[in-house]
Amino acid sequence: MGNPIVIVGSGLAGYAVARELRKLNAEVAIVMLSADHGGFYSKPMLSNALSSGKTPDSILNGDAAHMAAQLKISIRPHCRVTAIDPAGYAVTLADSEKIGYDRLVLAVGADQIHLPLSGDGVAKILSINDLDDYKKFRDALTGKKRISIIGAGLIGCEFANDLATAGYHVDVIDIGAQPLGRLLPPAGGAFIRQKLEAAGVVFHLSANTQSVDAANEKLRLTFAGSESIESDIVLSAVGLRARTQLAASAGIAVNRGIVVNRLLQTQLNDIYAVGDCAEVEGKVLPFVMPITHAARALAATLAGNSTPVRYPAMPVIVKTPACPAVVSPPDFNIKGEWHVEADQNGVKALYRDEAGRLLGYALLGAATQEKNNLTPQLPPVLE
Ligand SMILES: Cc1cc2nc3c(=O)[nH]c(=O)nc-3n(C[C@H](O)[C@H](O)[C@H](O)COP(=O)(O)OP(=O)(O)OC[C@H]3O[C@@H](n4cnc5c(N)ncnc54)[C@H](O)[C@@H]3O)c2cc1C
Repeated sequence: MGNPIVIVGSGLAGYAVARELRKLNAEVAIVMLSADHGGFYSKPMLSNALSSGKTPDSILNGDAAHMAAQLKISIRPHCRVTAIDPAGYAVTLADSEKIGYDRLVLAVGADQIHLPLSGDGVAKILSINDLDDYKKFRDALTGKKRISIIGAGLIGCEFANDLATAGYHVDVIDIGAQPLGRLLPPAGGAFIRQKLEAAGVVFHLSANTQSVDAANEKLRLTFAGSESIESDIVLSAVGLRARTQLAASAGIAVNRGIVVNRLLQTQLNDIYAVGDCAEVEGKVLPFVMPITHAARALAATLAGNSTPVRYPAMPVIVKTPACPAVVSPPDFNIKGEWHVEADQNGVKALYRDEAGRLLGYALLGAATQEKNNLTPQLPPVLE
């Protein structure tokens, strides 16, 4: 028997590759190595679990043993890969065990970015990037009332809406002047802000958090200019950075992510990367739809049919029920501008180039109904 195809990571990307490959080849040996519990769950559910009545246990679709039996693969949970030996076609685990591979797929995801804050409460700041983080957060919520979220991006706003709906007092702090500053023009930011405020969220915008200190049972956040607020729990949601270190220390090219071509291939033979850790033709796209497309293409390639990934337009639904929203962020490297129609029911913001071509959109409130008409007009993300 030769070596298996080894997938490092049991997130949506690792599982999508395993599932698609199994569909194409019933026999090939697949081993999944995961630093975590290795079970399958949908990460996007974490940010609306409270209002949808989900608990950490009910979010888990299947544990590692169940998934291994279902997909006919071998899954090794709590098994961290610490090194790759590309010449020897093997990976090393934390306990020094070596596992040979025929082909290696890195699906190691991304880490939360931690702001360089001062104060003796910094170690108590929570962030949520996986189910274990979420369990810890739900345990911490018991008996608590006030939650501060640093970061008014997609994940910060989704958690804010979820927590406010569940009856918590929520403060959202961002250094920018509006929520979702990377995705929405100012009119869109103002609209979602107003809807979330109506749901009970308190925004502190253009606020630069400097320190988090323990203050009796609470945490005190202090902003530049010395305004401060107190909170029971501080959640940091300021963005993600692709996990590139394992690949880089094996000599694999990395940039903002692990650099791969359209075959999801690194520059080293038989080593691939997919999901939040990967940079495909210069693009790092930490969302579910790109993973679905990339995993399908990679599985075909691994099954012997070299298949470059193509990305159509991939709008992202913002899970803020207080303000339904869908965004298809344009490539801001292409010159263009926002054309905005706004009223009290919604905002329709279309990003067009100089020739009038639609490159992206942000639709909020009633304007989300236009998603199905507009999406086919968008250019593909990767032709
Ligand atoms: C709260 C939240 C809400 C979201 N909502 C949406 C949404 O609505 N729509 C959307 O499109 N996207 C959403 N996303 C993004 C989406 O969930 C991610 O793009 C996707 O889950 C990433 O999957 P992944 O498999 O690439 O990475 P991850 O899920 O991070 O998985 C990485 C895996 O690699 C393992 N690993 C890492 N290092 C090692 C190692 N050295 N050895 C072994 N194993 C290792 C980890 O344990 C883990 O199993 C959301 C993200 C969050 C956090």
